[in-house]
Amino acid sequence: MPIPGLVDPVPVPRAITPREDGRADLLGLSRAQIRAELSTAGLDERQAKLRAKQLFHWLYHRGETDFEAMTDLAKPMRGWMAERFVVGRPAVVEAQVSTDGTRKWLLRSDDGQEYEMVFIPDADRGTLCVSSQVGCTLNCRFCHTGTMRLVRNLTPGEIVGQVMLARDALGEWPRGTMAGLDDGDEDDGDAPRYTTDGRLLTNIVMMGMGEPLYNFDNVRDALRLVMDGDGLALSKRRITLSTSGVVPMMARAGEEIGVNLAVSLHAVTKEVRDEIVPLNRKYGLEELLAACAAYPGANNARRITFEYVMLKDKNDSDEDARELVRLLRRYKLPAKVNLIPFNPWPGAPYECSTPEQIKRFSNIVFEAGISAPVRTPRGRDIMAACGQLKSASEKKSRAELDRLAEEKLAALG
Ligand code: SAH
Ligand code: SF4
Repeated sequence: MPIPGLVDPVPVPRAITPREDGRADLLGLSRAQIRAELSTAGLDERQAKLRAKQLFHWLYHRGETDFEAMTDLAKPMRGWMAERFVVGRPAVVEAQVSTDGTRKWLLRSDDGQEYEMVFIPDADRGTLCVSSQVGCTLNCRFCHTGTMRLVRNLTPGEIVGQVMLARDALGEWPRGTMAGLDDGDEDDGDAPRYTTDGRLLTNIVMMGMGEPLYNFDNVRDALRLVMDGDGLALSKRRITLSTSGVVPMMARAGEEIGVNLAVSLHAVTKEVRDEIVPLNRKYGLEELLAACAAYPGANNARRITFEYVMLKDKNDSDEDARELVRLLRRYKLPAKVNLIPFNPWPGAPYECSTPEQIKRFSNIVFEAGISAPVRTPRGRDIMAACGQLKSASEKKSRAELDRLAEEKLAALG
């Protein structure tokens, strides 16, 4: 028997942010979700499917935000779309450029949350460092992001929106006409005339603010749009997800996303890792390294990156380096080690290791046959370097942070 009245017992999280003008933002939606939006708005099944495919291409492959420019849609259809939908972008609060060419953007969501993305140009590649959360709940002691009071998961649109905004800023959307589509111009032959060569943005690392595996679904959905051949079309081999060690989600990350894995190891003993990466008290080193050994797709051609922040007199001794080698061997890990000089921030409780000690550490690991480059800090002058990201929001004292970390861990059980 039908139940009278409005029955909606399951609160479904919204994929679309309601806008004041009543239009829905399509940014971040999959083909199926766009299709569902079009059906709800009144298109029949066949039309909805066809138009969703076209919109998907315009949104994610061409970076188009104006329905009027979507030339393979009939004119009345363009107007119909524009009345009901928008294609948004994260709002830019501030854009900064470092003396070394690194760029940082402070972004703001519709509900006023701030998050950051960083673009790091190199001779042979350009890497975009993407955020997965506003803030981070994990409170690693050396990380500035962990000191943010507010934490919220970013939506798929806010995550993929970072990559799209970077392409806007770098002017890197494919131009020209689309293959086999009549755009109405007489003179162009409608041949595919765009090229994706020579791009500045070639790689993506999920190493901005937040712990990506604490926002698994949204990160996965966003990266699927990035990897889709008719979307942003970046190869999964050019994408790296960095986790501080959320063991139960690692296998799923391999299976459902399949990108390169980086693990923030940072210490080789329980005592030190418990202190600097508090999540270690929940998922210990052995468990973490076993999950790495089982990571789908890891092999000698696709190694797991172990990130290791160099903290003076904390985790940087010769013995630590030798223990690191022993651990990687014991778990037979196809590994490379990335040594990150600690980037200080105001009030940070650690110092960076000396350059000599970083070199010694690197040599010990390297002599054991494991590559161990030292990462060059980039964009320090604009606070864009690793682990410095933190929006303009309020600050907490170290004591308050430690107390919060203890509370959170107690709650984790
Ligand atoms: N939450 C994820 C990804 C974001 S942090 C993670 O922890 O892996 C990206 C990398 O920067 C991590 O290896 C992190 O440990 C490192 N990092 C954080 N703060 C840093 C700092 N102050 N100096 C150098 N590296 C830092
Ligand atoms: Fe979070 Fe990563 Fe920072 Fe730790 S290092 S607090 S997991 S962002």
